[in-house]
Parts: sequence; C-alpha cells; structure tokens
Amino acid sequence: MRTEGDNMIGLKRQNRAAVLLSLHRYGGLSRKRLAALLGLTPAAMTKIAAELIEEGLIYEDGSVRSDGAGRREITLRLADQKLSALGVSIGLGKASVSAVRADGTVLFFETVPLPIRAPAEQTVQLLCNHLTEQIQSCKQSFGKLLGIGIAVRGVIGEDGRTVKSSYDALDAEDFPICDSFEKHTGRSTVLSNNVRALLSAEAYLSRDEKSESIFFLRCGTGIGAAFAVGDEILEGDRRQCAEIGHIPVIRRGGKPCHCGKSGCLETIASPAAIREDAQAILSETETPLLWQMTNGDRHAVTTGLVLDAARGGDAGAMKIADRAAEALADALKSVVYLMDPGKIVLYGEIFEHPYFWSRLAAETDVGVDAAHAVPLEKSRFNGQLERKAAGLLYTIHFYRNGGMTE
Ligand SMILES: [Zn+2]
Repeated sequence: MRTEGDNMIGLKRQNRAAVLLSLHRYGGLSRKRLAALLGLTPAAMTKIAAELIEEGLIYEDGSVRSDGAGRREITLRLADQKLSALGVSIGLGKASVSAVRADGTVLFFETVPLPIRAPAEQTVQLLCNHLTEQIQSCKQSFGKLLGIGIAVRGVIGEDGRTVKSSYDALDAEDFPICDSFEKHTGRSTVLSNNVRALLSAEAYLSRDEKSESIFFLRCGTGIGAAFAVGDEILEGDRRQCAEIGHIPVIRRGGKPCHCGKSGCLETIASPAAIREDAQAILSETETPLLWQMTNGDRHAVTTGLVLDAARGGDAGAMKIADRAAEALADALKSVVYLMDPGKIVLYGEIFEHPYFWSRLAAETDVGVDAAHAVPLEKSRFNGQLERKAAGLLYTIHFYRNGGMTE
C-alpha cells in the first residue's frame, strides 16, 4: 500500500528528475526559467536546487543575467563532468568494460574476449576483475562513480534485471545478472538489451528538444533495431521489439540465419552477408573490378571493397549491394506504414559508404506516397556509441530516478 509519505518521495524524485533532465537537454537555465518550464513554485525550485547543489549534481556557473525587471538570475548547470558510470557490454564471443562521464567522455574502454556460451557466473567475475584493474590504472578523474550499466544481446526478463536469453553469448537462461554484478562490486546495476542501449545513448547525446518517436536500426554483424516513443523504448509483450533483422524476406532457398531460420533480412542485407555473397561469386568474369582490387583472393574481400567495386561499376558487386539496399529499404518502408516514426536513425559503418547510402535512399523513395516518405537519417554518433552506451545506461537511469542510486 502506498502511503502519503511514499507519494511525497515519489513527487520529490519526479521534480528532481525533471530539473536534471531539463538541464541536460537545454544546458544552463536559471531557477526562474526552470520553475516556469516545469510548473514548479519558486519556493519548491529554490529547495530542489539547494539540494542538488549540496549533493554535487548541479552548480551555479557564475554567469548572471538580468530578468528584464532588474532582478538577477544565476545560471544553473549540470555537474556532468564530475559524474561517471561503469559500463559492461556483452556480445557473442566478446565483451567490453568501460567508464563514461555523464557528458559522454569515455574514461576507459577495454575489449575482453569470451568463449561462445561463456559460463555466466565466471564471466561476471572476470569482467568485474577487468573493471577493478581499469579503475585502479585509469589516470583520469571519475568524480562521483554512480553505478554500472549492462548492455547485453538478447532478451531481457520481465523484472528488467535478468538475462532471459543471450543467444549463446552467456551459458545461462534466466540469469540474474544485475544481482550478480551487485554482489561482486557492491554497486547499483541496471540492464538493457544492447540495441536499446545504443538507442538510449543516441537520444541522450542528441539532446533533441522535440520528443518524437525514433526507429533506430543498427547494421553491424547483424541487423538489430529498437523503437522509442518519447522517452520510452517499446519492448513488446515478449520483449522482442523490434527484431527487424529476422523478418523473412526470401521465401524459399534462402541462406541459413544464426536464429535457426533461413532467408532473414540479415542474411542478405547485413555487411557480413554482402561480403559473403561477393566472396561466393568472386571471379574475373562475374566481378571483374573486385577481382582486380583483391588480386583474386577471396580472403581479401571486405564489405567496403564490395561497395567500392559497385560504385566503380562492377556488375556482380552492384547486384549484391543493390539487393541488400532494396531489401533493407523494403523493411524500412513497412516500418513507416506500420509505426509512423518521427525519424529513422541508421547506425553502422555501412551507412557512411556513399554507394550504399545513395542506393538505400533511392530505394526508400520507390512506391511510397508523400505522406509516407521514409524519414531517414544517419546517426550523428556513428562508430562512437558502442563505447558509451553501457555506461550512459546508468547515468540515464540515475537522472530519471531524480539523481538517486536507490
Ligand atoms: Zn534470422
């Protein structure tokens, strides 16, 4: 049963969260402007600001402006260079440990190789050891170290603290990973699916004023996606929103996918699929330019070279790259008709290649009316988020929780 005391604490937490998130989004603001923005009384605002200053979460930056009526307004700012969080990211065959300041600065980042189906408890112990070593040898100041954010591939349990399935990254099902990290480190820990963590970091670092819906697609080894409406990331009833990489696109005779099916989008549109398809047909006649670029060596074929060859007019390379762009564009058009996102943010090195990007943009225009134009954009943080996302998970949780770890 909730008591009046709980409600008061809840309201206080909510108001503190609103102040912290507004200072993050807009930069410096005076007490008066914050109070007007958030609908707080001047007295309430003064009290919250005093508390947050006392706790070292915000500071008065010394700049003073007149409010027009001759009264002075002191600007408040987040002390985000004096707050940091640890990050742990767990993928297939490798993990990473990191520390990230609340302003997005990476303090350390280390990749740790893991066996496939890594034993869960031992892996937590191993990663905690790496964290401890890195913290001890890091020359930069952490300021206040808030907690740990974990980003893991796969499906998160309903409690938000358990890894239900990591698709062979960890050798465990329903593994209470937050409890395990908390037991080893004594630090408060939060958990998210890895693509959702990337989306959270993208939204946090973008500081967009307008809260809109974002469909975020990451094209790395595989293809993953997540969908946010305002500040909330939708998970779906089975916590599998949005597995776009495993939409079946080839009805019969498609290549097998690691998910166990065949003919998934990922098997023709991921960078690995583009490379493998080109390796399979590499020859002087079918892919003359790629053949020249690689001296006929299959092992020298990279996704970037296939796209370079396509750009140079290599018919075989073009066929593979165009089919990938077309399949991905078709999937994104379905997203627009189904979900109507404010923007589709594409994350991954492949989107930086001019040939792939122009083919994708051209294909998304085919067959749609103006009301369903695909709002494509490249991530502003391409290549950077893997290092930041896990640590920022905790910082975002901390701000949303009113600047409290509990
Ligand atoms: Zn699949």
